[in-house]
Amino acid sequence: MKKSLPTQLTLLLVFVLSLSFLSACSDDNGDNTNENVLNQNLTESDINALLFMLEEEKLARDTYRYLNNEWSLNQFANIKNSEQTHMDAVENLLIQYDIEYTILPEGEFANQTLQNYYNQFILDGSLSQANALQIGATIEDLDIVDLRDHLEASTNLDLISVFNSLQCGSRNHLRSFVFGIENIGDNYIPQFLSLEEYSTIIDGSHEQCY
Ligand code: MN
Ligand code: MN
Repeated sequence: MKKSLPTQLTLLLVFVLSLSFLSACSDDNGDNTNENVLNQNLTESDINALLFMLEEEKLARDTYRYLNNEWSLNQFANIKNSEQTHMDAVENLLIQYDIEYTILPEGEFANQTLQNYYNQFILDGSLSQANALQIGATIEDLDIVDLRDHLEASTNLDLISVFNSLQCGSRNHLRSFVFGIENIGDNYIPQFLSLEEYSTIIDGSHEQCY
């Protein structure tokens, strides 16, 4: 049914009023104090996020290197190299912002939680190929969620750009591990991602990450 003229006028009026309301709001934030404005300053929390993610990418690299020696699975051979490039990307940001960091020898982590994960992952992953693939999916599942939390907490352009790229890589890695898991008739149950987030990733296709 065709809308009557008064209805159309009312809709137009509402639209114009909303526009002026929105512009009034943005004027209030015109002094740049809006915390959502993207910037090039690293906060204390950004620095901690970078240092933490450097070690979490190392957790992925070191675990995949270890499991690659245990099992001849394409996933570990390919993805361990990708994790090195992820570490490099975070390390480059730390260098760019002149932040001190250390990369411990393979299998060693300053963060105790990550150390505990590593110890458990190499133990579980050595039991069977099926377990090893589950460990791969678990690491990517964790990685995507940690990156998401840090992305939500930051307004730094460089950090956001690098973490988005790492997260894109992790989605591809998760698809690759889950493909391997389903290929042997198993299934993966997400432990960190919600079932909805997980399904969206798995239903999606391989992404080009920049
Ligand atoms: Mn990674
Ligand atoms: Mn990964």
